[in-house]
Amino acid sequence: LVPFSGLSARKPDALLALIALHEADRRPGKIDVGVGVYRDETDRTPVMRAVKAAEVRLADEQPTKAYLGADGDVQYTALLSDVVFGSHRQEPRRFGLQTPGGTGALRLGAELIAHAAPDTRVWLGAPTWPNHAPIFEEARLKTATHPYFDMASGGIAFDAMIDALGDAAPGDVLLLHGCCHNPTGTQFTLAQWRELANLCNVRGLVPFVDLAYQGLGDGLEEDAAGVRQLLEAVPGALLAYSCDKNFGLYRERVGALWVQASAPGLTELVRGNLLALARSLWSMPPDHGAAIVRTILEDSALVMQWRDELDAMRARINAVRKALAAQHPALDAIAGQRGLFSLLPVDADAVASMRDSHGIYMPANARLNLAGLNARNLVAFAEALRPHIP
Ligand code: PMP
Repeated sequence: LVPFSGLSARKPDALLALIALHEADRRPGKIDVGVGVYRDETDRTPVMRAVKAAEVRLADEQPTKAYLGADGDVQYTALLSDVVFGSHRQEPRRFGLQTPGGTGALRLGAELIAHAAPDTRVWLGAPTWPNHAPIFEEARLKTATHPYFDMASGGIAFDAMIDALGDAAPGDVLLLHGCCHNPTGTQFTLAQWRELANLCNVRGLVPFVDLAYQGLGDGLEEDAAGVRQLLEAVPGALLAYSCDKNFGLYRERVGALWVQASAPGLTELVRGNLLALARSLWSMPPDHGAAIVRTILEDSALVMQWRDELDAMRARINAVRKALAAQHPALDAIAGQRGLFSLLPVDADAVASMRDSHGIYMPANARLNLAGLNARNLVAFAEALRPHIP
């Protein structure tokens, strides 16, 4: 047997390929609205000032780099749970731990589910973040798809979603974006969150919330309100969290996973399993990014600075949304959507043509990163888009 000859070829990641294409493009007016990072008005993804200040403090004052436990920096998780859960922070049925990014949280949650019940099916919306299906499938879980987005209205196809979930079986997992849906920018209303909680309770489904953009939609509290309401209403749930967007820490890989068990006695069992699984996956998560977040959250002046910077990011994204929506009636819905992304009402041919003719870089599904637009390129972008809008 030839080592590794049993492997089958895999498609390269489309977004990473897009980055390379954009890099290679020498046209001065090229526009990157593909890569999923925040960009300021000058097209940069700066390190937040609160983050820099925390890093300076860490460099001066960090006493050791000795190992932590498999749960990472427990003070980070405790302080972050105030941000995520607000007045709901005290919940004895819940256990949380630091993970390598939101991706690590999703994968660890998937492994926990696979160990608890290997035949579990995970329901994903169409569309969703392209990494969701691989994360669950690599953990040997089955995935199923329900309708999610209605391109005609730019809103959630909520009735069709609920209808499709009529086929879900007790114990199935329902993946939900906490806010700022990637790629559509849609969000559930509080009434819809209530209906989803009811559905989970009636059908015995376990919600797995992916909260990767808290603070980038309508505000830190607003963006978590639906999730908090859901968690209150259901017995068991998982929540994967990412600090990589709202602290601008992308490559530092900062996340957390919380699991809510359906009875206080189960929490200890969940905790032991999560620690054992984390130990075999990454032993312990990388420290630096979480230490930055902890250092900020420990200091009220740094918290204020971080919140101001986050407010400015959000305000800029929402201003770009309004400005782009004003360019064409078919783009109206974009003003009401939230977060970094919206799906444009054009097809893959249009995306390719905009790239060839104008140096505009978007994935084939026409997912637009609003933060790639600014006062200098927004009108040019809209002009290039206009002929393709049906
Ligand atoms: N969930 C969603 C919906 C995302 O968009 C992302 C990042 N693109 C993640 C999870 C993963 O975040 P992280 O970079 O922290 O792994």
